[in-house]
Amino acid sequence: MTMKKRVYAFSEGDGKNKRLLGGKGANLCEMTQIGLNVPPGFVITTEACLEYLADKKLPAGLMDEVREHMARLERATGKRFGDPANPLLVSVRSGSALSMPGMMDTILNLGLNHDTLQGLIRQTGNERFGHDAYRRFIQLFGKVALGVPDELFDAEFEAIKHQAGVAADIGLSAVHLADIGERFLAVVRRHTGKPFPEDVYEQLEIAIRAVFDSWMGKRAVDYRREFHITPDQANGTAVNVVTMVFGNMGDDSATGVGFTRNPGTGENEMFGEYLVNAQGEDVVAGIRTPKPVHEMATEMPALYAQLVELRDKLEAHYHEVQDFEYTIEKGVLYCLQTRNGKMNAQAMVRTSVEMCREGLITRDQALLRVNPAHLEQLLHPCLDTSHNPTPLAQGLPASPGAASGRCVFDADQAELLGRAGEKVILVREETKPEDIHGFFAAQGILTSRGGKTSHAAVVARGMGKACVAGAEGIRVDSRARLATVGEVTLHEGDIITIDGSTGRVYLGAIPTIAPTFSEHLRTLLSWADEAAHLKVKANADTPEAAKEAREFGAVGIGLCRTERMFNASDRLPVVVEMILAPDVEERKAALDKLLPMQRCDFQAIFTLMAPYPVTVRLLDPPIHEFLPDEHSLADEIDALRQFRRVAKGRAAALSALGQAVEADGVGEDAVAAVIARKERLLAKVRELHEINPMLGHRGVRLGITFPEIYEMQIRAVLEAAAECVKAGVAAAPEIMVPQVVDGAELERVRAMVDRLRQEIEASHGVRLDFKFGSMVETVRACVSADGLARTAEFFSFGTNDLTQATWSFSREDAENKFLPQYIGSGILEDNPFEVLDVVGVGAMMQMAVEKGRSVRPDLEIGICGEHGGHPGSIRFCDGIGLSYVSCSAPRVPVARLAAAHAALLNGG
Ligand code: PEP
Ligand code: MG
Repeated sequence: MTMKKRVYAFSEGDGKNKRLLGGKGANLCEMTQIGLNVPPGFVITTEACLEYLADKKLPAGLMDEVREHMARLERATGKRFGDPANPLLVSVRSGSALSMPGMMDTILNLGLNHDTLQGLIRQTGNERFGHDAYRRFIQLFGKVALGVPDELFDAEFEAIKHQAGVAADIGLSAVHLADIGERFLAVVRRHTGKPFPEDVYEQLEIAIRAVFDSWMGKRAVDYRREFHITPDQANGTAVNVVTMVFGNMGDDSATGVGFTRNPGTGENEMFGEYLVNAQGEDVVAGIRTPKPVHEMATEMPALYAQLVELRDKLEAHYHEVQDFEYTIEKGVLYCLQTRNGKMNAQAMVRTSVEMCREGLITRDQALLRVNPAHLEQLLHPCLDTSHNPTPLAQGLPASPGAASGRCVFDADQAELLGRAGEKVILVREETKPEDIHGFFAAQGILTSRGGKTSHAAVVARGMGKACVAGAEGIRVDSRARLATVGEVTLHEGDIITIDGSTGRVYLGAIPTIAPTFSEHLRTLLSWADEAAHLKVKANADTPEAAKEAREFGAVGIGLCRTERMFNASDRLPVVVEMILAPDVEERKAALDKLLPMQRCDFQAIFTLMAPYPVTVRLLDPPIHEFLPDEHSLADEIDALRQFRRVAKGRAAALSALGQAVEADGVGEDAVAAVIARKERLLAKVRELHEINPMLGHRGVRLGITFPEIYEMQIRAVLEAAAECVKAGVAAAPEIMVPQVVDGAELERVRAMVDRLRQEIEASHGVRLDFKFGSMVETVRACVSADGLARTAEFFSFGTNDLTQATWSFSREDAENKFLPQYIGSGILEDNPFEVLDVVGVGAMMQMAVEKGRSVRPDLEIGICGEHGGHPGSIRFCDGIGLSYVSCSAPRVPVARLAAAHAALLNGG
């Protein structure tokens, strides 16, 4: 019977079999076999580990196999294990199929004892190094293999430092370190009741057992549970035994780390640092400062040439940027480790484009190796992490980017200070459409309530401004113009920094790094567009946002929320006038004032986007959103009444004293007029009050009950289109109706559109070409999508509302109330307002796609909810055959790359 093989030399192990050899072991085998000079070594399999754990003893014959492999190492290196004249030393480390930080620390310099130490000192000619290596080995072996607490060693170490009167390790001499070694041996003896093993094979066996045991250690078990690592993914740990090589054996020795390309910029240049006559720990301990690798070209030209050759071999084999470690021992370069280099987004993009151009990878590979979500880093300013500040509060990362500025507690103040050139952060409990001018003026928005699809979040994302929403630890008191976070009080004018990518809020101004939209990114995205099926449009409401959308490569506007245009400070009073109008006539008069403003915006946007389509959504939110909040209005009226009494008293006093009442404009009558106006407003606010406004009088329901509002908007779109035709601009407008539940609603609006079209075509003498379509954002719209498709020429999924409706979770509140617990406790994996819920919302969408296309096979279908910018959700949209996704402008590049990923991964 042949014995089961449990030990593989690096030259024989299967470099792809991570399950058997662990990630590190397989990698060392692969590196050896592609001709890299790896220090000789071997791997003990994960199967041997499982046998050991099952039987509580090493499998029979394992140590014989190990001895045979040690003998091979001796032959390969000319050194001998335990030989004082020329000692072979090894490292012993764990390594399972998946990299697991919970596993065992590496033991270095195994094979040292009193005798071999002398050999090491002779060979290196460095007594201090020898004693230092020995005391480190005793401590590490004592701790990880024998279970001696670190503190016992640390106490001895500190005692010697104290005796020697030095503060840092570097101040200790060889004599001190020798003394420490002896003390450490005594610690082991005292703690374990046995002397430290001098026999090198005994050391090796104990170390192998310790590695195996570490698989069931608490740290490793907890780690596997936390990250759901199943036995299928990783079962047992391998043991890697590798010959130690030393970079401190003279001036022809060195140690270094490198990247095959610059991981900060992606530039195609070797990057890294090295130290002559040193070992890696010297770098970590800060004992010596390493030199940039290009200096090796002059200092050690022959070795530099070897290093360049190593770099070329690594990239040619792995087709990926490598992060590698090497040691040069007496003029021989050893590669100790290599792995895919972790790089920032800029470097990922540049290396993708350049490696593709160099023929190292294909275009598809170039696209797939960049994570779309990481592109966000390139499109917004981000915090300079080198400052590592402590956050003051945590909210939801609602709109990426980092911004600093003075706290202001209302939009007017934001506008005032913004105009004066100040940087401000608008801090509110939650925002409303009336705050829009504050958004324009602010660098960023911070709210203490609301989720990722709250008003603040959606508007900030649309504008590409940083937003932290729902920071519930902050109490905002806008009347007192302050906010409190625990013990800290923020007054108006205090400077804070918000990071909309992490949801963190900081006191003071933290430096930020500006975004870059490089040539390489443009190239990669142009490749993405060629690979993708889905088109990417932007959600944009203003000409400025439209311009930005084009710059980011959007091929149209998939959602233009017209209500945003109502909120500009010169328009809101007209909108309020329209809402307060007692009858149709007065309402029409107010709408007549709004018409030219909307027409002008549309014309600008159509022109900027031509020939790409612009989908204009008719008014959607409940109109009370344009009015002030009931409670603050009531408070104001209260204060005004008190003031009126004061004004009256003052007038009486002055007249009794025979003095003239000053005409300062705030006499009793003026105040009474203000009160009357505010009371009328309050009465309207109360009249419009709804218990569930998001399910109330909004969207097409407004259009049916107040047709003059939709008429004005449709007229504005069509007249703008007519002006474009006359100016020779290839405008492509689309009119979209929100909140639809039934085809009959669409027919009503369509009739309005047809009537106005005839009128405008006649009055302008042009033919109008446009599309008419429906938002699909209610459950009933999905179920009756065939009915909708009889009238609608396109659909756009409003997955913000559709998620709310499908789940019966309020999009304004859920993310701050129960969702975190649902996600934290594993009931839900993701936030459905962020990651499209394939099971529920996805099924609704799929039904709507099928029903819609059963009536109108060429129906164009898109998505304009926030999920339209989420890479995983985009993949689902591609899978169900949507035509486009639409997301906020700064997310467009992310979506373009994600659309390419979707096409490549979904196939078809
Ligand atoms: C939606 O509901 O997904 C949508 C895009 O509309 P809004 O967020 O404006 O309600
Ligand atoms: Mg909606």
